[in-house]
Amino acid sequence: LLYNEVQDLKGAIRVYCRVRPFLPGQSNGQSTVDYIGENGDMMIINPLKHGKDARRVFSFDKVFGTTVTQEQIYADTQPLIRSVLDGYNVCIFAYGQTGSGKTYTMSGPDLTTEETWGVNYRALGDLFHISKERSDSIKYEVFVQMIEIYNEQVRDLLVSDGSNRRLDIRNNSQMNGINVPDAFLVPVTCTRDVLDLMRIGQKNRAVGATALNERSSRSHSVLTVHVRGRELVSNSILRGCLHLVDLAGSERVDKSEAVGERLKEAQHINRSLSALGDVISALAQKSPHIPYRNSKLTQVLQDSLGGHAKTLMFVHINPELNAFGETTSTLKFAERVS
Ligand code: ADP
Ligand code: MG
Repeated sequence: LLYNEVQDLKGAIRVYCRVRPFLPGQSNGQSTVDYIGENGDMMIINPLKHGKDARRVFSFDKVFGTTVTQEQIYADTQPLIRSVLDGYNVCIFAYGQTGSGKTYTMSGPDLTTEETWGVNYRALGDLFHISKERSDSIKYEVFVQMIEIYNEQVRDLLVSDGSNRRLDIRNNSQMNGINVPDAFLVPVTCTRDVLDLMRIGQKNRAVGATALNERSSRSHSVLTVHVRGRELVSNSILRGCLHLVDLAGSERVDKSEAVGERLKEAQHINRSLSALGDVISALAQKSPHIPYRNSKLTQVLQDSLGGHAKTLMFVHINPELNAFGETTSTLKFAERVS
């Protein structure tokens, strides 16, 4: 099926599940993933139960097993990139507990080897490639923003002193889909430009991490690519944007253990991830009221969720036995939005 046909069949939301392989040094023996089918089914097994009760089947648009390459992961995403250049808004999310492979999928483990590049770089490579192919008929301009949402505050990742400045969100049709107007908006002309910006963004994100350990797992990072195309014959303008979102870790925090800042972070994350789930499932059910206002994340993405927008969510599974609880709650989240 082509993406647009899938759209017609079941709305604008696709959910893919990716199972991370065991890492070197992890017990390679037993996995909570019992079975992955060809057609998007997977079966998980509860290590604490026996017999029929231990197994449960989930179904998604696709399930990727542990041997799937970065190239294969990206292959089905390419049509979405074409949509952005056609004037659609697209969101691609990575969801899952910390350590389940979100950043691996979106960025990859290592920027220096193209083979392991994640969705972000491949998407931008295609975006520039396709826009060049069309250059006889459409002249495209591309701009990038990179923000972080931490404790319900929006921060610019492309300015190094951004840590102190909270940015406002404005949903205003005059702004052409630029919902965080005060965040740096950088013109780019090739993948290399974007790679350089992403390095800056990652560095700025790491700066915040000195104050609070492992900050990247507790904030959402949103890389937004704004595209403006002018059709040379008609002079008409089309606009699209692509949001590449590496979400905060979805793990639940034990209230009896977390205190102070850690508890506050956890509550913000829980609330914003459930707000995201609420919005996507309301859209999937074609509900008349979509609760965008309940989190900064859904406000930033408001005009790219629903309407003519297209959404792809990669949910990530850590196959270790001791992750079973989080695996189940990740799969339930995914089931709810799909
Ligand atoms: P997250 O961003 O969800 O916290 P990471 O992407 O940082 O998780 O992944 C955690 C670790 O697992 C990293 O060392 C990463 O390189 C490795 N990893 C994740 N997914 C894969 C994969 N598909 N293949 C190989 N290694 C992976
Ligand atoms: Mg990460």
